[in-house]
Amino acid sequence: MASWNPSTHTWESIAFYYEVIPDPSLLEWRPVRQANGKLHFSFGLEGIRLSVNGLQRLYPVVTNFRNETLIASMNHPESPMIPVCFNQTRQQWEPSLLVHYLTPGIADEDLIRSEAQSTAPGVRLKPNAQGIVVVGAQAYLMGEYGWYRLIWRAPEREWGVSTRTAGAEQWVRVTYQSEVDGWQAHSPSSSQPLQSGPLAYVGTGDRLESEVQDAMGMILYRGRERLPGSLRDKIDRAIEFAMQTASGAAQSLRAGLSVQDQLTLQQRLGMDAPLTPARLQELQTLFKAIAADLARYRPSGSHVQQIVIIAEKSGDVSFVSATDRHRRIFIGQKHLSLSTANLAHIFLHEDLHFLHENAQFHRAFDYFYHGSYVDTDARALSRSIDNIGQTAVNIGRGRQIPNLLTQHSQIRNEQITQLGSSTTRAELLAHNADTQAHLMIWLDRLKFIQRSSNSSGSDASRGNATANTHR
Ligand SMILES: [Zn+2]
Repeated sequence: MASWNPSTHTWESIAFYYEVIPDPSLLEWRPVRQANGKLHFSFGLEGIRLSVNGLQRLYPVVTNFRNETLIASMNHPESPMIPVCFNQTRQQWEPSLLVHYLTPGIADEDLIRSEAQSTAPGVRLKPNAQGIVVVGAQAYLMGEYGWYRLIWRAPEREWGVSTRTAGAEQWVRVTYQSEVDGWQAHSPSSSQPLQSGPLAYVGTGDRLESEVQDAMGMILYRGRERLPGSLRDKIDRAIEFAMQTASGAAQSLRAGLSVQDQLTLQQRLGMDAPLTPARLQELQTLFKAIAADLARYRPSGSHVQQIVIIAEKSGDVSFVSATDRHRRIFIGQKHLSLSTANLAHIFLHEDLHFLHENAQFHRAFDYFYHGSYVDTDARALSRSIDNIGQTAVNIGRGRQIPNLLTQHSQIRNEQITQLGSSTTRAELLAHNADTQAHLMIWLDRLKFIQRSSNSSGSDASRGNATANTHR
């Protein structure tokens, strides 16, 4: 992962969380226009492609008041913006890091935009570690629309901007968020409780949260500490369960599969030939990475507070934003009534969406779901794993087309064509999150069933998802 160094004000590399990951199943992610290397999307986004770690990645860009093009984070607008320029000779976009200091962005800059000055406040413009430029006794902060005069209020110990709208003067508090190296403007009515410390939930009131509340449902609980005891125990058990499953799947591969299992694995992944040692190694590395990542959500882990429970607006959903710097896993309230085994499957699935930081792994999208397990008892669960496995083999051999999630007939037809051909099928399956999640469970099935039997006594309630809509 890249990092912004506040003391030197340099950017060491381009962070993955600036990237947008276009969902290939959505029509919106096909650019409507391309000009000068800029891609324009129907919903207003402008983006550019940059080659980072061997992948052509898509970054959202804005044009600032000086007519410079900058990469801006969609999830974390307070993060520093990265100036880029189009290299005419090479016909590609490149970071122009030598020209400027990177200055932190300002989230909700619109609240102070009326006060933006487009002329530079002084000759020397070397900002301090937080991006503040001091000219004489006056402090300035630069945003997307210009410079702002900062005022320090000693009693409250806070920075702010004085805005005048319709003759009325208003104080807009701005706070530096060290966690994302950027500034946040606060609407005069809101008083955000500041949480700090390594074990606090991070992300309160940010853009991802507001998008979630608009589109997906109300946030009920943020962080493990806030969860009612029984829920907390259940989530803890499911994460532990998922972690052990990922780790068990990696161990099965290391120990070596039976001839029959090797064939099944090959078929589930849509391959014509047995998996090469390199591909087997790659899967093992992926499953180990999932286990290590899930371990961070355990009570002693660094992400333990990054579980968010929402009341779904419709259906039952759990999801993540793949580029969320705060690595939140959003779990729908209805999913909490699932058995621990099915919740473990959700954690495996969601975590797969996070693992895209480098070119090492295939990115995980949601082309289709396999559904959840019937696990009323060990035999039912075993049969359910077999049933999902049989469907996976049928899909992998091109004998069955799954219920594709895309809403667009054109994209659906492309995917059906891709799944129908033995030369292209494996590519889609390698990118389908649920294919990989169920693969881990299948590889570790004996212990998975054992674990499920052990935890079934403590499941407060159990049920099976009627519609498996987790993302
Ligand atoms: Zn998903």
